[in-house]
Amino acid sequence: MGFAHRGGMGGNAMTEILTEAVADYLKVIYDLTCGEGRAGTTQIAARLGVAPASVTGMLKRLAAGQPPLVEYHRHHGARLTPAGRRTALEVIRNHRLLEQFLHQRLGYRWDEVHAEADRLEHVISDELAGRIAVALGNPSHDPHGEPIPASDLSLPPLPSTRLSELRPGQEAVVAHVTDTDPDFLRYLSEIGLTPQTQVTVLDYSPYDGNLTVQVDGGEAQVLGPKVTGSVVVENP
Ligand SMILES: [Zn+2]
Repeated sequence: MGFAHRGGMGGNAMTEILTEAVADYLKVIYDLTCGEGRAGTTQIAARLGVAPASVTGMLKRLAAGQPPLVEYHRHHGARLTPAGRRTALEVIRNHRLLEQFLHQRLGYRWDEVHAEADRLEHVISDELAGRIAVALGNPSHDPHGEPIPASDLSLPPLPSTRLSELRPGQEAVVAHVTDTDPDFLRYLSEIGLTPQTQVTVLDYSPYDGNLTVQVDGGEAQVLGPKVTGSVVVENP
């Protein structure tokens, strides 16, 4: 069976002692930087809803760890080290596999899976994640349309165009949504704006940024920038 093997990399040991707080920091830095550049202390603090001073403390701890998970310089923020990037991707893989498992096998709706996966992502082993992946037929995406890192932690290139950037006459397919708020996800379900649906832009109002769109050939509806800015599309 094709289970993940990360022989000699220390991945298993690190995952076992990974605290929830450490995982949350690594995920936020990964998210802010796409795994590459630097994330500022205030940016990280805003995303985690904590004081910048506590972020500084944690970044110093992560930088002093064995192996160091971030590279931290005062006033320049933090960058993930290769070990930090690998750990962030392991947590992201666990999270998205759990979401897909809850959705596909246990009947959870897409607005219910995120909170449950957040609680479980830190405690499952690489072995369990590998078995979930195999049981689901190695899914490529989670219920929100976000790609699931493969067992070697590789990710396909991510689409980055927002629905809000499209203009009348353009068509695209919904790739994923960036907001995890359950109310928002239920609203998107109601209007049919879910991954893999086709959207056509009919009208744009430059004054308020509203777009009139047709979802899957249905009736025209007007969507505000809060909605269209949270939907990522592909093949525009
Ligand atoms: Zn999630």
